[in-house]
Amino acid sequence: MATTTTTSTTAPLPALGGDSTPASLEARDVSAWFGDHKVLDRVSLTMPAQQVTALIGPSGCGKSTFLRILNRMHELIGSAALAGQVLLDGADIYDRGRRITHARRQIGMVFQKPNPFPAMSIYDNVLAGLKLNGVRATRRERDGLVEECLTRAGLWKEVRDRLRQPGGALSGGQQQRLCIARSLAVRPRVLLMDEPCSALDPTSTRRIEQTIHELSQEVTIVIVTHNMQQAQRVSDQCAFFLAEQGTPGLIVEHGPTGAMFTSPRDNRTADYVNGRF
Ligand code: ADP
Ligand code: MG
Repeated sequence: MATTTTTSTTAPLPALGGDSTPASLEARDVSAWFGDHKVLDRVSLTMPAQQVTALIGPSGCGKSTFLRILNRMHELIGSAALAGQVLLDGADIYDRGRRITHARRQIGMVFQKPNPFPAMSIYDNVLAGLKLNGVRATRRERDGLVEECLTRAGLWKEVRDRLRQPGGALSGGQQQRLCIARSLAVRPRVLLMDEPCSALDPTSTRRIEQTIHELSQEVTIVIVTHNMQQAQRVSDQCAFFLAEQGTPGLIVEHGPTGAMFTSPRDNRTADYVNGRF
């Protein structure tokens, strides 16, 4: 018989991070270096709860690095040296004594290339994050969570009859929605998405955008995108990153998405959003 951490079979599993309400995220004066190479220069940005923030800007200006810094992912992949603070609902995720898991359970990440475990079943893919964290649940809790997360990711109806098939058997767009479902299973308060649609066809892209729209009331979303129409369709606010001629990346301008596209304050923003570089 499966071991259970709760006596109820219907109550949802608790959030791994202890709280599943959408949180604000604030970067304060974040600078980053790879060796001697400074790639971010005093980036400050508030990403309010229940809003979608789009990070836009040319390749190489530090958007992915910034996104990874927001959930301490960079510490896992050949780390950048870092200065500044990242506050999750006001608490610095880099405070000494705060463990990396504390941030990463509350701040999920979805990548450009869908990366489900290809040989693992769709069902087990959704639960992978819980297993990695040693969470035990009854069969009924697991079933409920899988259905809930796949529904929130807009995939349930397509896969409900094939949950035991491998994740790798799904189409690219379905795999990306499976990755979204997997990241939702630990009930994050913030979801970071690094060009989640770049590898997808237009139909799959629109479905992910619909999912982002639906999720945005339940989880704070930060999305990197090169697609200016997408930034306008999904985001409430935008931040334009730029790294000019060997200088580190910084935010040139940020604000409500509508204003950024109709009346940018900086000429470089105007050039970028109008496709002039
Ligand atoms: P973007 O996502 O905006 O394209 P990145 O954050 O990927 O930009 O890269 C910003 C800068 O940091 C680039 O100059 C890139 O070459 C450098 N960079 C990124 N990751 C690493 C790494 N792991 N080691 C060394 N330099 C890196
Ligand atoms: Mg990038």
